Amino acid sequence: MGFFREIYKSAFRPSELKALMMIKLESDKFAPPKQPLRELAGELNDRDFAYAALSKVSRSFAVVIRQLPTGLKDAVCAFYLILRALDTIEDDMSVPDDEKIPLLLDFYNKTEIDGFTLEGIGDQEDYRVLLENYDKIIRFYKSLDKPYRDTISHACMEMGKGMAEFSEKEMVSIDDFDQYCYYVAGLVGIGLSDLFYHSGLESKVIADRKDWSNSMGLFLQKTNIIRDYHEDLYADRTFWPKEVWSMYAENLEDFAANPESADALNCLGLMVLDALRHIPDCLDYLSEIRDAQVLRFTAIPQIMAIATLAEVYNNVEVFKGVVKIRKGMAARVMTSDLTIDDVYLYFSRYLKKLLNKTTPYADHYHETRFLVNKIRLDIQNRRKALRAAKNITNEQPV
Ligand code: MG
Repeated sequence: MGFFREIYKSAFRPSELKALMMIKLESDKFAPPKQPLRELAGELNDRDFAYAALSKVSRSFAVVIRQLPTGLKDAVCAFYLILRALDTIEDDMSVPDDEKIPLLLDFYNKTEIDGFTLEGIGDQEDYRVLLENYDKIIRFYKSLDKPYRDTISHACMEMGKGMAEFSEKEMVSIDDFDQYCYYVAGLVGIGLSDLFYHSGLESKVIADRKDWSNSMGLFLQKTNIIRDYHEDLYADRTFWPKEVWSMYAENLEDFAANPESADALNCLGLMVLDALRHIPDCLDYLSEIRDAQVLRFTAIPQIMAIATLAEVYNNVEVFKGVVKIRKGMAARVMTSDLTIDDVYLYFSRYLKKLLNKTTPYADHYHETRFLVNKIRLDIQNRRKALRAAKNITNEQPV
């Protein structure tokens, strides 16, 4: 089904075709078990259940995570599932606030209680199964080294606090938006960086520069929030900050009613511009990563995000439905050996694409071009420095 449609879309891009085939083979090898997670829960040990749950709740994440070195991989897997469980509670609108808020605030403590499970929470079957079998995740989590557990627990506590705060608060200003994204994504970036540091694979700089880690999370989260405008609107969730959209509309849903309007596109442009300002931090962060697998793990989602931003920019389809990047493009990134220079090249390419979509009569035309050009110049300089460093090493006598 989907696979053949993607082949068609990439028909004139041989490198994408090859990558699609490779990823098809690869993902067949790592395909989520066909059996429902509910059945598997009775059969699998804690660790296998955790990985089965991971591949059910996030297929793309499950693929990148598998490439990480073993100890770190388990820690990242547990981290992901615990936060996914927390998010499942946050997202279930059928849970009343007087039940939800204490649960969000205390979830990091619950994760220490042997045998703790939750019944009847979750919008989707696999999420419900995850919570019903949370005792398995707790045992898996408890098998991790202490520094990993401390990092996960702390992130879970902070995120629960933030989710509780925002369940009672409207997202108005850009500051609120940044704050919310910090809670749900920045903390993930900061936590992951701690895990990388504890694994011994990455330097202390990666753990210490929480501003960089936060930007890594914010860039991904904001990109998803922009892309998911339509889906979230119809799920009765709103994440676009009022301070931004109220400049262009009475109600956020006005854009869906008038997708071709200048107001809709100007608002979208401003949301994209806001996301773009995180890129310099992301590039600083990625250039500091030493381990090739960690670089792939951290860079692939960032490349997908810049490709998505370039796709959604000035695109009325955002207000009509889901805008997705070609699977072939994603497959190509996921199957390549990714160096930092490749990361720079991808960013530069998609920023150029975005630049080509700017229109002189749009609001923030100059600001957007100025920022994008500045980042592209910075990338050029980084690449020059990289080449110079390489040449110096090459020229050194043996
Ligand atoms: Mg949520």
